[in-house]
Amino acid sequence: MALRIDRIPTWKDNYTYLLHCEETNEAAVVDAPEADPVLRRVESSGAKVVSILSTHHHPDHSMANPDLAQRFGAPVYGHVSDRERLPGFTNGLEEGDTVRVGRHVARVLHIPAHTRGHIAYVFDDALAVFSGDTLFAAGCGRLFEGTPEMMFAAMRKLDALPDAMRVFCGHEYTESNLVFAVHVEPDNLAAQWKLDRVREIRAKAAADWHDATDSEMSVPSTLADERATNPFLRAADAAELGRRRALKDNFRG
Ligand code: ZN
Ligand code: FE
Repeated sequence: MALRIDRIPTWKDNYTYLLHCEETNEAAVVDAPEADPVLRRVESSGAKVVSILSTHHHPDHSMANPDLAQRFGAPVYGHVSDRERLPGFTNGLEEGDTVRVGRHVARVLHIPAHTRGHIAYVFDDALAVFSGDTLFAAGCGRLFEGTPEMMFAAMRKLDALPDAMRVFCGHEYTESNLVFAVHVEPDNLAAQWKLDRVREIRAKAAADWHDATDSEMSVPSTLADERATNPFLRAADAAELGRRRALKDNFRG
């Protein structure tokens, strides 16, 4: 049976995910900056939350951890190195560890660069990767605690995933990311085509992100899409990735 994945719009443009094993009714919450929208979704689904999974320690991904942990009596997972700074931290993970949500198992990838303790959760059977602020649809996170070399290495780990793997990232940034993608690769027709599609989707967006419905969400993407459109996943080497990242830091599309 399927792993159901609910996309919950939180904060300004964040994605919080509710992962629900329909066979066992066990569930996990990925990256929650605020509790209320999550509690409402959990209540309406009838899921039993057994773990809180964090991709990294930034507040827009983790502020609600202590609140949710208390309400559900659930442990909070994050990279071992974030023990002191991830809100609610209880259980440390390292590269190659696994976490279970009902019948579904995620592998942990350590992908430092945006932050030193950034991890991704890969559900091979459900074809879903939770990539936080490292791999966005058509973009990558800022290099707050890492180098272009580290982000390039992170991209190679993610690039090993199959075409059909769905990419559930931390923010709805796809449209502006694609504007940049088309700017740096003007001949990339896949990026241009996807930008047109995402603009159609986003044109119908609710005024308040909290009211967003599935139809206006450009996430998930897929690894196949990212290999075709993402200028950071597509960068030939760390130097090119670094140049593109520096350019985007100051880019106003
Ligand atoms: Zn972040
Ligand atoms: Fe973020």
